[in-house]
Amino acid sequence: MATYKRLPVTFERGEGVWLWDIDGKRYLDALSGIAVCGLGHAHPGVRDAICEQAGLLTHTSNIYHIAEQERLGTMLNDLAGMDRVFFANSGAEANEAAIKLARLHAHRCGIENPAILVAENSFHGRTLATLSATGNRRAQAGFEPLVQGFVRVPYDDLDAIEIAAANRPNIVAILIEPIQGEGGIRIPADDYLARLRAICDREGWLLIFDEIQTGMGRTGRLFAHNHSGISPDVMTLAKGLGNGVPIGACLARGAAAEVLTPGSHGSTFGGNPLACRAGRAVLETIATEDLTANAARQGAYLLASFQEAFAEISGVVAIRGRGLMLGIELDRPCAELVGIALDSGLLINVTAERVIRLLPPLILTKPEADLLVQRLTECVQGFLGST
Ligand SMILES: *Cc1c(COP(=O)(O)O)cnc(C)c1O
Repeated sequence: MATYKRLPVTFERGEGVWLWDIDGKRYLDALSGIAVCGLGHAHPGVRDAICEQAGLLTHTSNIYHIAEQERLGTMLNDLAGMDRVFFANSGAEANEAAIKLARLHAHRCGIENPAILVAENSFHGRTLATLSATGNRRAQAGFEPLVQGFVRVPYDDLDAIEIAAANRPNIVAILIEPIQGEGGIRIPADDYLARLRAICDREGWLLIFDEIQTGMGRTGRLFAHNHSGISPDVMTLAKGLGNGVPIGACLARGAAAEVLTPGSHGSTFGGNPLACRAGRAVLETIATEDLTANAARQGAYLLASFQEAFAEISGVVAIRGRGLMLGIELDRPCAELVGIALDSGLLINVTAERVIRLLPPLILTKPEADLLVQRLTECVQGFLGST
């Protein structure tokens, strides 16, 4: 169905940060399939892992033990300081699990009509519950009645949360992105996440981080909340976890880890051997190739390079970034830039109407970063000069 307005290009193969279309034209991929292919395209480690697993087992069922699921679950728990994982097939499904977990936890605590705090301009997915949690009226329009039980506050605004806490006794959790992705690469104040943690501890709420876009090394640490020194009770992952093989995960610790019990939730495909083997290959590669450090290094270099390149250009109003999650905000809508960049052999994205979003692979090298800056600067200068 026509759910996407597609760009006029079809890719045939990829290698690292490069993609080739069916006419043989080469593109620098600064989007990674929207933060999915963090290891780049056709990464040999992931390729070998999924080929090998395909020759052994792709699916049995969650009614049996699954060794690869247990391996990946243990790795994720160890890395995230979590106790349990539920595996799904996408980000939205991982968030659905987190929302159901929060509601079930609340009902067990005797709260009849639980509500979850969510942020304006957030993005949590396209299923009915995650769409209802998403702070984008245009994405919701036409799909009413939405799922109830979400209370919306401005992002990066602690006073708004205190007001909600004082007026809404039925709040049980906060569901929030550590950095807003679709919302325009919005990076909150340095102490925001720690202050959310303190509020949740005081109120007895669950702190749920949607790290579907920010996780898996994207921001220069394995998880974006690692920059803040605190941990959530629940965290969701997807996008970069399988490097293109669909997989989502909802991790929890402490009491939150004991909420979902046999029969309370499930998934036919979730946590199958193939997807989990891909996830394990991704985690192993991030560790052996030290890709979080590379994301931090190349991200800082890109940020500084863009600040220099755009210093004298008045149409550029802000440049934000943490690791390889960068946003360049213009003073006007710039969706057109995506096509301009495509013509010049560069894949980028525009979100929140006027923010150029860059999510290059974590394997990016300095020469590739230089090329990205050069090509994008030319595109932006041409665009601003012509509008
Ligand atoms: C992409 C994304 C989702 C949804 O993931 P899907 O796999 O498309 O369902 C949810 N939350 C955030 C922060 C995302 O970036």
